[in-house]
Amino acid sequence: MTIAPERVEDLVTALRTVLREDQILTSKTDRYNRARVPAPFPVHRWAERVPDLAVLPTTTEQVADVVRIANELRIPIVPRDGGTGLTDGAVPLRGGIVVDVKRMNKIWEIDLDNRTATVGTGISMLKLNEELGKHGLFYPDDPASYPCSLVGGRIGTSGWSLIGSRYGHTRDLVLSFDLVLPTGEVMHVGDGIGRKISKSSSGYQLKHLFMGHQGTLGIATEATLKLYPKPEAELSPFWAFDNYDDAYACVGALARAGVATFAGAVLFDEWKVAYLRRDDEAYIPQPNDVRALVCAVMYGYEDEVRPAGKRLFRIAKEHNARYLGDEISEGDWAARHDRYATPLHGRTKDGQVVPMSWHCEDAAVNYTRLPSVTKAWHEIVADLRRKTDVFDDWGMFAYTSADTGVDYLTEIDVGIWEQQLDDRAWELWVQAKREIAAVAISHQGSISACHGSCREGEVDLVPDELGRGFDVMLEVKRALDPNNIMNPGKYLLDRAYDTEDPA
Ligand SMILES: Cc1cc2nc3c(=O)[nH]c(=O)nc-3n(C[C@H](O)[C@H](O)[C@H](O)COP(=O)(O)OP(=O)(O)OC[C@H]3O[C@@H](n4cnc5c(N)ncnc54)[C@H](O)[C@@H]3O)c2cc1C
Repeated sequence: MTIAPERVEDLVTALRTVLREDQILTSKTDRYNRARVPAPFPVHRWAERVPDLAVLPTTTEQVADVVRIANELRIPIVPRDGGTGLTDGAVPLRGGIVVDVKRMNKIWEIDLDNRTATVGTGISMLKLNEELGKHGLFYPDDPASYPCSLVGGRIGTSGWSLIGSRYGHTRDLVLSFDLVLPTGEVMHVGDGIGRKISKSSSGYQLKHLFMGHQGTLGIATEATLKLYPKPEAELSPFWAFDNYDDAYACVGALARAGVATFAGAVLFDEWKVAYLRRDDEAYIPQPNDVRALVCAVMYGYEDEVRPAGKRLFRIAKEHNARYLGDEISEGDWAARHDRYATPLHGRTKDGQVVPMSWHCEDAAVNYTRLPSVTKAWHEIVADLRRKTDVFDDWGMFAYTSADTGVDYLTEIDVGIWEQQLDDRAWELWVQAKREIAAVAISHQGSISACHGSCREGEVDLVPDELGRGFDVMLEVKRALDPNNIMNPGKYLLDRAYDTEDPA
């Protein structure tokens, strides 16, 4: 959906009062480039999700001016950082303005004594860590999209980090940030009046509210982040198992061991191992008797990681694990931080190789629920495959979210033949997404640990997951965004405006 051409002209005229000409992008290429996201969508419908223009602000004041203009003119506005989000958060469902914050990528301060960095939210963790490394420091927000997702998008999604079991996830690592509210006012979000307090009990704890909202409550422009010593040692043993049950028992035991340098563990199920063997060129193929894999990761100083490793190796051995050797262990772990180059092909039911894009469905699930969620999700995808050749099951991972092993980011990777995604196949997929989300909820989990849950299908179950909390979301949205201009159409938040009298 787009806005009328004469309104676009009025908008451009207004934007010229606050931005330079080169910061206002109206060409088709610029607009289409900022409509793209990795999650597959029917090609014949791509034109529905293109912004009317994009802007490239460089300061908080400019973002605030743009938002104020959008609010006055009642024009939709969508924040976009790396555009790697997998729940369509940065997709402009109603046209309007995409605010691309990539030029806000300065490092404003590295505070060596308090161990913080203050940055523009358009910076990537990769670039930031290149600078921090010079001081022996690092910022440990480490998604598999590490090189190309940006700090603002991490705030917008409240992202999950591969090494979060040791360092925490985005919400733990971001201390504070400046946020442009949907009315154009600027608000400082965080604990305390300064930027660098990690714990306060004063007032409502608003930081969590303003993270993970998928750009529906404002645009984060400058953030202060917690830093850690750059780890001297990284140990990431990969073990093979000849059955899923041993691997499952092993990952649980490793995560529950309470080893201080433990940064995370990953369980690869049979489907994933078969897929890696079959189709992922980046992986060193495993013999057929390997049916499941586990990887554990330890980060820290050499003299703490080495004994910790001994302990975890002992636990793995007790669970019939076979160590795969240093080369595979180091190589595969390195590749985990940069999964952008996922394979571009999959297979039909008959084994025919066809072009496919990757899609990942994720949920937060307790350890004890993993086997039954795994089974139910594979059945959903198998059912899809019985109905059409557009989908392939690329297997599942379960990654620890916490240092105690309480819950796991559980993901099923689905190959989608995007060029063949017609209306019928899309409907089947949306229904499958609903079923995948329903399984997570029926297992007392959450629809998403990682990406958010505002894409078609899964979003229908958000009110079921949140209960009264969903009504609170509507009330907050209406209060902060009276004209529904900030990323409209997401998270069923239009319902906040459906009532006759919002007051
Ligand atoms: C290969 C691959 C691997 C991935 N692995 C992981 C992983 O391990 N962990 C994980 O958490 N995610 C992962 N993701 C998903 C994605 O990278 C994350 O959701 C990431 O946080 C998005 O960041 P981004 O900069 O690309 O944001 P975008 O996609 O641009 O935006 C994401 C959302 O945040 C909003 N937003 C963007 N900028 C701002 C801002 N400045 N202020 C407020 N809201 C904003 C957008 O409107 C949108 O709703 C992966 C994605 C890919 C493609």
